[in-house]
Amino acid sequence: DALSNKIAAGEVVERPASIVKELVENALDAGSTTILVELEEAGLGSIRVVDNGSGITPEDVETAFLRHATSKIQTDRDLFQIQTLGFRGEALPSIASVSHVLLRTSTGQGKGVELTLEGGHLESRKAAHARKGTELMISQLFYNTPARLKYLKTTHTESGHVSDVMNRLAMSNPDVSFEYVHNQKQVLKTAGNGDIRQVMAQIYGRTIASKLVSFSESSLDYTVNGYVCLPEVNRSSRQYMSIYINGRYIRNYALSQAILKGFHTLLPIGRYPIAVIQIEMNPMLVDVNVHPAKLEVRLSKEAELGDLLISSIKKVFQEQQL
Ligand code: ADP
Ligand code: MG
Repeated sequence: DALSNKIAAGEVVERPASIVKELVENALDAGSTTILVELEEAGLGSIRVVDNGSGITPEDVETAFLRHATSKIQTDRDLFQIQTLGFRGEALPSIASVSHVLLRTSTGQGKGVELTLEGGHLESRKAAHARKGTELMISQLFYNTPARLKYLKTTHTESGHVSDVMNRLAMSNPDVSFEYVHNQKQVLKTAGNGDIRQVMAQIYGRTIASKLVSFSESSLDYTVNGYVCLPEVNRSSRQYMSIYINGRYIRNYALSQAILKGFHTLLPIGRYPIAVIQIEMNPMLVDVNVHPAKLEVRLSKEAELGDLLISSIKKVFQEQQL
């Protein structure tokens, strides 16, 4: 119902960046290879995401805005074998409950559909052009939750959060071509050719990209692929470290500490390395269903993974010095 959607919105759609993340993750789950993200005023003007994924059939399009209507899990068991980025069926209804939405979608077969919603209520529905994929346009964000609107920071801060989100999505999906445009200015564009170094060059600059070293190490339960280097002298930020589990950007204190430990002797206190760490593991060993935003994770064998990270990073720098 409308009230529970608005409550969920408080948890899932904290700010424009969280909306961008949810919409792009849906585009990725739909198998898109090209994703365009266009924002005006850090998303407070509008957020538009256009993909070339599967599209939604005319029969399912209204269900997508119903709470817990996910097409991605069918049974309880699936919840512990999550292969998609989304699974809670909360994002679209939550976003719709606090904004105006325009959705155009087509499976490429027959006519597509165009819907408009206001505060989660269907305003119009008609047949639309048939290019395969989905376009979502969010405007009037938080128009009916003034407290939330007030809590937002400056457009500068909010657009910084959006950039962080776009950078992480691009780094975890180097085979997808992303274009991110803010106030008509292109901020990020990736080739989508699978080359993560190229993506990192876009984000961190060519100098850094040329210094990156990579490693690939496995333990019984985990495989870790990493791209790491020391930051430039006067540039260093916690945001330069990112961890992905099975393609999902995650936050985990113990793992971040393990990365820092791996760099221990190479970095002064308070400085952060550039580190993109991709972990592959059995989804059974990770619980992403801790919070609606799916950022914090719980790991079954955290210590084993931490040790693997520390030793891999130490090793790659020892080899460098030979
Ligand atoms: P979840 O991603 O957790 O399933 P969402 O609320 O984010 O829930 O989306 C609801 C449903 O709408 C999805 O399960 C999917 O079937 C459909 N959907 C949303 N966005 C897209 C998209 N860009 N392309 C195709 N289907 C989509
Ligand atoms: Mg989703």
